[in-house]
Amino acid sequence: MRKHRKMAKRYRKMPINREADRAGRILKIALVLLGLCVVIVGGYFGLKLAGVDLSKDVFTSQPEISSSSLPESSVPEVPSSSEEPESSVPEPVSIHILGVGDNLIHDAIYNQASRRANGEGYDFSFVYQRVAEDIAAADVAVINQETILASEKFPPSNYPLFCTPVEMGDMLLTLGFDVVNQANNHSLDKGVEGIEAALDYWDSKEVGVAAIGLYRNDEDLMNIRIVEANGIKTAHIGFTEMTNGLVMPSDSPYRLVYASDRELLEKLVKKAKEEADVVVVSAHWGNENTSTVTQAQEELAQDLVNWGADIIFGNHAHAIQPLTLLTRESDGAQCPVIYAMGNFVSAQAYGINMVGGMLDVTMTKDFETGKTTFTDMSFKPVVTHYGRGYTDITIYPLEAYSEELAASHGVRANTPGFSMEYIKSLITPNIPEEYLDMGE
Ligand SMILES: [Zn+2]
Repeated sequence: MRKHRKMAKRYRKMPINREADRAGRILKIALVLLGLCVVIVGGYFGLKLAGVDLSKDVFTSQPEISSSSLPESSVPEVPSSSEEPESSVPEPVSIHILGVGDNLIHDAIYNQASRRANGEGYDFSFVYQRVAEDIAAADVAVINQETILASEKFPPSNYPLFCTPVEMGDMLLTLGFDVVNQANNHSLDKGVEGIEAALDYWDSKEVGVAAIGLYRNDEDLMNIRIVEANGIKTAHIGFTEMTNGLVMPSDSPYRLVYASDRELLEKLVKKAKEEADVVVVSAHWGNENTSTVTQAQEELAQDLVNWGADIIFGNHAHAIQPLTLLTRESDGAQCPVIYAMGNFVSAQAYGINMVGGMLDVTMTKDFETGKTTFTDMSFKPVVTHYGRGYTDITIYPLEAYSEELAASHGVRANTPGFSMEYIKSLITPNIPEEYLDMGE
């Protein structure tokens, strides 16, 4: 084929308007062709005499036309009933939705991160190194950012009015969090300007997250954030019971959803249910430093589930609160509710604040019914560890923690009995055994 193309090119380059040369050229071509024939025939017999069998090569040099090279339409289809799927509905698909606790960034944490970055910004990776894999493995990972990321407008600050370096946001993105809840009791620590700064920060990210819980206006609030994974749409809503006595100025367009605004919550959850397969609610509620759930939490949880919430990731207690399954009245769906996942990280002072966990919920979509339902879950406890004087704050999965580490924990200054047994005593009464992943 290549040879033919080259010849054709050559012919095109020949002059076509010189009549006088024509006869001479035709004669030359005829002589050349004759010469070629002589060479080929002579060569053939020459090789034959030398004992070379050319029959195969000569007659198979043309590509064979096999059935596979025929146009598909001309190939008769042989139906094989055993291999044909019974219907065109795809197999059920599952995703893992991971929730973690309060990311409570005290000054000890950002000061250590500053030192680790040698004064050039903040490097928080030391804190999350042992849980990074779990976060990355989730299809959708959700965190409560307890402290506002407003360092582009205010200097970083500690309790009671927190402000956290935006490098923490970069860290959450690097870890693979998909949803960051910002509705909590510290949302207004830096006022409306703090909220604006945090939202500006998230908006500045090219590949961002669904930053929920704080909104620029009513329209932004009603724009339900949806994260899709494996063809399953998950919608995310965040609300808080209170904001430590601070209030949004009445003339501000910014929005934050309070637990007391039942009508709005119902509207949001129902809208989310219409737009997505799974509705995940980040709830900031209850009392601090206790595993005891309030009646208000229980009642609201059941309402949320009835309105359409499929998963509730509760937080705020800085301690683990019970994990349970609530049943939706309308369709009997089983919905995981954890009232609080404890701190993800903090520099708090007591043992109860050092123990938290990551709840991994498996949701499965049945494409025949179009329904996505709870199929499994697993709670993996974590321990925030630090040395004497809040040094080297970092998170351990409980499976990587030890009696030796517990004995060296700086929290022993306030909780002398901090031990593996103490840690387990905060977990086992709240997490049903069948859903507990102790890594044993
Ligand atoms: Zn809180």
